[in-house]
Amino acid sequence: MDGNVLRVMTRLFCDGRCTDDTAVKRDIRDTLRELYRKYADGQCGQLTQALMELGATVCVPNGEPHCEECPLNGLCRAHKEHSETDFPVRKAKKPRRIEEYTVYILECGGSVAIRKRGEHGLLAGLFELPHLDGKREAQAALDDASAWNIQANEIVSIRQRVHIFTHIEWHMACVHIRCLRCDSRFQWVTWDQLHAEYALPTAFRICLPPEV
Ligand code: SF4
Repeated sequence: MDGNVLRVMTRLFCDGRCTDDTAVKRDIRDTLRELYRKYADGQCGQLTQALMELGATVCVPNGEPHCEECPLNGLCRAHKEHSETDFPVRKAKKPRRIEEYTVYILECGGSVAIRKRGEHGLLAGLFELPHLDGKREAQAALDDASAWNIQANEIVSIRQRVHIFTHIEWHMACVHIRCLRCDSRFQWVTWDQLHAEYALPTAFRICLPPEV
């Protein structure tokens, strides 16, 4: 059923059942059919169109509906009870899962390390900055990077960034490290190449130092 019509119906009847429930939707559709049978006089299409428009322009979502302009305000139970915005009732959204990472901006002689992600899962097949699970303190980050055989030399900066996907939040400590060796486990590209030739996902692009 159209979301606009569903909203109007739940407000008209103060229907506090969860509209994410298929059985509830079916029941509201049956009520609507009954109304059509009694009042539409063969003009079901027009009545549906009118309800859709009412929902889109007057009985609006996300905030107060414009009840003073509504032709149904004399019949509407939610309006009578001043509870218009209590309807429709939706299932509470699951909170996003939070994942923490340390993202490494490894810079060596004007080049930066990137690598390709696996072929499955989030951002599959795209380029990324090297990263490890969990947020590391400065010395631990330096030690981790050294283990990649890149002779991590100094930390230039550590910045905190958050990227939000639909169901997940990435909380990232972005550690910019100068190193002395370009190990072949990574692909090393210049900053210009990175910007011009590689579609680094936003989740990683926001980790880059603003000056590059
Ligand atoms: S009176 Fe208000 S809440 Fe009721 S149907 Fe009209 S706009 Fe929606």
